[in-house]
Amino acid sequence: MTTSDPEVWFLTGSQDLYGPETLEQVAGQSTMVATRLQASGDLPVTVRWKPVLLDAEAIRHVMLEANADDSCVGVMAWMHTFSPAKMWILGLEALSKPLLHLHTQANVELPWGTIDMDFMNLNQAAHGDREFGHIQSRVDIRRHTIAGHVGDPRVRGRVANWCRAALGTADLHGLRLARFGDNMRDVAVSEGDKVAAQIQFGVSVNTYGVNDLVASVDAADPKGVGEIVSECLDLYDVASELLPDGDRHDSLVDGARIERGLRDFLQAGGFHAFTTNFEDLGGLKQLPGLAVQRLMADGYGFGGEGDWKTAALVRTCKTMAHGILGGTSFMEDYTYHLVPGEEKILGAHMLEVCPTLTASRPSLEVHPLAIGGREDSVRLRFSADPGPGLVVGLSDLGDRFRLTANVIEVVDPDEPLPNLPVARAVWKPEPSLHTSAEAWITAGAPHHTVLSTALEREVLEDFGEMVATELVCIDMNTTIRSLQQELRWNAAYYRLAGRL
Ligand code: MN
Repeated sequence: MTTSDPEVWFLTGSQDLYGPETLEQVAGQSTMVATRLQASGDLPVTVRWKPVLLDAEAIRHVMLEANADDSCVGVMAWMHTFSPAKMWILGLEALSKPLLHLHTQANVELPWGTIDMDFMNLNQAAHGDREFGHIQSRVDIRRHTIAGHVGDPRVRGRVANWCRAALGTADLHGLRLARFGDNMRDVAVSEGDKVAAQIQFGVSVNTYGVNDLVASVDAADPKGVGEIVSECLDLYDVASELLPDGDRHDSLVDGARIERGLRDFLQAGGFHAFTTNFEDLGGLKQLPGLAVQRLMADGYGFGGEGDWKTAALVRTCKTMAHGILGGTSFMEDYTYHLVPGEEKILGAHMLEVCPTLTASRPSLEVHPLAIGGREDSVRLRFSADPGPGLVVGLSDLGDRFRLTANVIEVVDPDEPLPNLPVARAVWKPEPSLHTSAEAWITAGAPHHTVLSTALEREVLEDFGEMVATELVCIDMNTTIRSLQQELRWNAAYYRLAGRL
C-alpha cells in the first residue's frame, strides 16, 4: 500500500435547531454506527468519526481537510437528523475524494409501543438523507449510495467493497510506473495516451532504458541474490537441474540476480508497477519470468510488451483485493477449447502469471523461450485454483478510456498439461464463451487483462465511478444487442459529459 494507515472519514449531518441534548444523542448514536463498522473487522480502512456537522462553514472545512489529508481515501456521510442541504453545497463542491452516502439509522426496530415525537425528531434519516440525496444530484457529484443497517453483514460487505475501490483509486492516483523499453512494435492496444491517463487516474508512467535495469542487476548484492535463491528452494518444488548441485543451478542464480536488481530499481524509484518488453532486453541474460511472478505476488503491477495500462490496473486490483482470499494476476486470453457445451478459455502469458492464483506449491523450472533471443528463463509453473472470478481490461479509445469486465468461473483443466511449460488459468466466461468473446471484441477490449479471484464486481463498479471511467460488465444478462446499445449510449454520454 502506498497510503499507510488509510482512513475513511465518517461525517454526520444535523443542524443546531435541535438543541444540545438531542445533538448529544446524535453524536452518541453516530459514534456507535462508526464504531460498529470499525469493530466488525470487515473494512480494509480505519473509520474516523468526525464531530456532528451543524452549518455550512463546518461542512466546507471538513471537506477541505479531507482533501488535504493523504491518509483519507474517502468520506462517508449520513444525515442522522434533518440537515438542510443548501448547507452542503460549498462542501460538496470542494470535495475531491470519493463520497459514500450511507443511508442508515441507529435503530433496527420501530419501537411501536413507546414511540413518541421525541423519538421521531431524533431518528429522521429517512427524510434527512433524501434531502441530502437531492442536493448531491443537484450539485451533480459522483457518489455511491448504500441503504441499510450496519448490523447487516451484506450492508457492511457493500461498504467494504466501496472502501476497497477508494483504496484502489487513492493508490492509482499516486502510482509511479516504470517502463523498461517502449511498446512491442506495431501493437495497438497496449499503446495509449499517458498524459490523459495521468490527468484521469493520477498514475505517472515513465520509460527507462533497459540497460538502467541491467546496471542494477549487475550491481545486485550477492548476499541478497543468495537469499532469493534460498527462499525459492523453500517455497517451490524446484526442478532437480536447478538445485544447488544441479547442472543448471546457474540459471536460477541468474533469475534471482534479475529479481534482486529489479527490486532494487523499483524500491529506489518508489515504483509499484512496471513493464518489460521481450524485444528490448539489452544486456539481460533472461526474459524476467520468475522475478516478475514473485514481484506480482508482493503486490507490484506488471504488464508485458510495454503494456503500462494493464500494469497499472494489475497494481490497482491488487490494492483493492489486499487482505482477501484469492489471487490477482496479469493475464492474457491465449487459446480456446471449443467443444460444444464445454467451451473454455486457456489463459497464460509467456511466463508472467502471478502465483497468488494458486494455494498449492508451484514448481520452479527452466525452459527455452520461443521468442526473445536470450538464455532459457526460470519460471514458476502451476494451474490457477478453481473458483469464481473476474477478468478486467483497460483500453484507450482515443478520446477516453474504457474498462471492460467479464464475470468468469476458473475451472480445473480438463486434463493434465504436461507439455505446457508456463503457469496458466482455465476459465468459463459468462454468459457463454461465444457471447463473452463477441461482447469483449465488440467493446474493443484488450487481450491483456487482470484476472482476479479475490475481487467482487461491485468493487470494480465503484472504482469505475470514482475514476469517472466507463465500465462495461459482461455477465449472465449480457446479450450482444443490449451490449451494442449500451456502447452507443455510453459513447454519447461520455462525449457529452467530457470537457469542452
Ligand atoms: Mn502479451
